[in-house]
Amino acid sequence: MLLRVWGYTSFRRTQLPTIMSVCEGRDTLALMPTGAGKSLIYQVPTLAREDGLCIIVTPLISLMKDQVDKLRRKHISAVAIHSGMTPRQIDIALDNCVYGDTRFLYVSPERISTEIFKARFERMKPTLIAVDEAHCISQWGYDFRPSYLRIATLRKLAPDVPILALTASATDRVAEDIMKRLEFKNGCIIRSSFSRPNISFSVRRVENKNEQMLRVINNVPGTGIVYVRTREGAEQIAEILREQGISASYYHGGLENAERALRQDDWTSGRCRVMVATNAFGMGIDKPDVRFVIHYSICDSLEHYYQEAGRAGRDEKKAYAVLLVSPDDKSKAKRMFSSEFPSLEFIKRVYEAIANYLQVAVGDGEGISYDFNIYEFYKRNRMFVGTAMNAIDILRMNGYLTLTDESEHPSRIMFTISRDELYKLRVERGDLDHFIRTLLRMYDGVFTEFRSVSESALATATGYSIDRVRELFRTLWQLRVIRYIPGRCTPLMIYGEGGRLPQENLYISPETYKLRKDMAAERYRRMFEYAEGDEMCRSRFIQNYFGEEDAEDCGVCDVCIARKKSRKNNPDIEAAIMELAETGASIREVVRHIESDPDIIATQIDKMQSEGKISVDSTGHLGIVRINE
Ligand code: ADP
Ligand code: MG
Repeated sequence: MLLRVWGYTSFRRTQLPTIMSVCEGRDTLALMPTGAGKSLIYQVPTLAREDGLCIIVTPLISLMKDQVDKLRRKHISAVAIHSGMTPRQIDIALDNCVYGDTRFLYVSPERISTEIFKARFERMKPTLIAVDEAHCISQWGYDFRPSYLRIATLRKLAPDVPILALTASATDRVAEDIMKRLEFKNGCIIRSSFSRPNISFSVRRVENKNEQMLRVINNVPGTGIVYVRTREGAEQIAEILREQGISASYYHGGLENAERALRQDDWTSGRCRVMVATNAFGMGIDKPDVRFVIHYSICDSLEHYYQEAGRAGRDEKKAYAVLLVSPDDKSKAKRMFSSEFPSLEFIKRVYEAIANYLQVAVGDGEGISYDFNIYEFYKRNRMFVGTAMNAIDILRMNGYLTLTDESEHPSRIMFTISRDELYKLRVERGDLDHFIRTLLRMYDGVFTEFRSVSESALATATGYSIDRVRELFRTLWQLRVIRYIPGRCTPLMIYGEGGRLPQENLYISPETYKLRKDMAAERYRRMFEYAEGDEMCRSRFIQNYFGEEDAEDCGVCDVCIARKKSRKNNPDIEAAIMELAETGASIREVVRHIESDPDIIATQIDKMQSEGKISVDSTGHLGIVRINE
C-alpha cells in the first residue's frame, strides 16, 4: 500500500511503531520533528480499513488545503472545513462525511464547537481523531490556542474512538499536558529522535556577516536559503548576492501572493539558487535538495531555528546549517524583546482598533469571520508589526479573537451581456471563442449571477496557462463582457465567545501575560546559549532541548570538528606514540593502547613521520629516529 498509494519504498524511523499503536486502537502521542512525515501516521491506518472516517484537527488553513489537494490527487476523498467557508459550503462538506464516502475530514479548532458541526459529528462514524500541532492545547507550549481545548468535547461524544496527537515540539511538561487535556486512556508516547545526522550545524561569530555568508555560499554547491529578520534585509541581501554574481531572489510577507508563488516556484525548480527570506518563507516548502540554510539573524527560539534550519538536507545527503552572530546581536535582541512585549493598555488598544477597523459593534461578531488585511491595519493605526502581532497573540491566548492564516477567495465572474450578444462576439473574436466556450461549458448560470470560477481548472480545460486565463478574463472585462472580481488571499479574524466585548469586560489575565513573557524570555535565553556556547555538540544541544537526554555527539558540527582538530595536535597523543615507538610497537598496537579516534592517531603518526621524529618500517612497526644514528 505504501508504494502503491504514496510511492515510498519504506517507512521512516518511528512511523511504523506509531502506526501500529494507532491500529491497535491506543491513544497515541507522537513527537516527531517537522518534515519527518506525520501525515502518514493517520493516513495509513485509515486507508488500511475498508471504510471509516478520519478527522484531523489542524490550525492552519493553507496546510489543510495542501493536504486535501494531495489526497484528492491520489483519488482519495477528503474535505476541509474552516472559517473561510460559507455555511452552505460547510453543510455540503459535512454531508459528504455523514452520507458519502469521505475518508478524511480536516477541521480547524474553532469549528468544532459550532452546533452544525456537533450535530453532524454525532452521525459520523469516525475511526480515528488526529490532532495535529497538538502542543497548541497546552498553556506551556509556545503556541497556545484556547480553541484547542474544545477537542475534548469530541472525546466525550465519541469516547471509543482513539486519538492520535502529533507535534514537533513538546517538552515533558507539554507532553503530559497534551495527554491530560485529550483525556488519554492507556496512552502511549512515541518519541522520534530530533537528530539529523546529515546536517552539519555550526555557529560563526563574526564582525562581518556578509563575508562569512558569501564564503558559505561559494563553498557549498547547490540550492540554499538565507533567513533574515526584516523585509528590507531580505531585499538588500538578495541584491548583495546578485552583485556577486550569485543567482538570488527574495521573499517576504509584503509581496503579493502571486509574486510570492512565482518566486517560490523559481527557487523550487532550480532557476534561482539562493532564496533570501523572512520567516514568511516556510510553509509548504517541500524541496528535498536544499544544501544550506544560513541564518543571518538569530531566531527567537530554538523551535523556530530548528524548524528553519531543518529545511536543509531532506534528501538525507550532506547539508549545512549555519548561524551567523555578531557581537552586538545580544543587545539588539534585548531591545527587540522589550519592544515586542506590549503593555496591557496597548493590548486593549489593539483590541479596540481591530473592532473599529472591522466595524464590529459591541456584542456582535461571534462566529463570523472577517477578512483582515494585517498590513493595512498596521499602517492605518501606525503600529509596529511585531508589537501588534504579540498583542493579537495574547488576545488569542485569552480566547478573545483568533487570526487565522490566509484563506483563499476564488475569483468570481458574471456576464453583463446576453447570450445572443455573446454569440456575436464569439464570431467576431475567434481568438476568444475557445475560452468562452469552455467557460460556458464548465459554469452554467454565469448569465444571471456571480459565480466562483477556478483559474487553474480553466487552465487545465483550455490547455492555457493560468496567467493566460487571467489575462483573458481581464480582456473580457475590458470589452465590458463580464464583471470580474479577481481572487485573493487574506487572513481572517474570528471573534471568540460573545463576539466583541465592551472594553471593561476585556480581562487579560496577568498570569497568562507574565507566563507568556517569561516563556519567551526563556526561549531567547536558550537560543543564545546555543549561539554562544562552544562546549557542547550542536546537535546534542538541540536534541537535549527537545527532551532527548541520551543524544550522542554528531561528529560533524563545528564543535565536534574543532574538538577533533585540537586532539590532532594533542601533545599527550604524541608523547604516547613516542613512548610506544621506543618499544618498537606496531601501528595496530599503538591504536589499541591509546584511547583516541584511530583516524586521529593515524594522522598524528603521519605527521610525526614527516617531521622526522619516528619511522615506520615495512611490517608496520614504529621506531624512533635518532639524529646521530
Ligand atoms: P510533518 O507533518 O511531520 O512535517 P509531512 O507529513 O508533511 O511531515 O511529510 C513531510 C514529507 O515527507 C512529505 O513530502 C512526505 O511526502 C514525505 N514522506 C513522509 N513519509 C515518507 C516515507 N516513508 N518515505 C518517503 N517520504 C516520506
Ligand atoms: Mg504536518
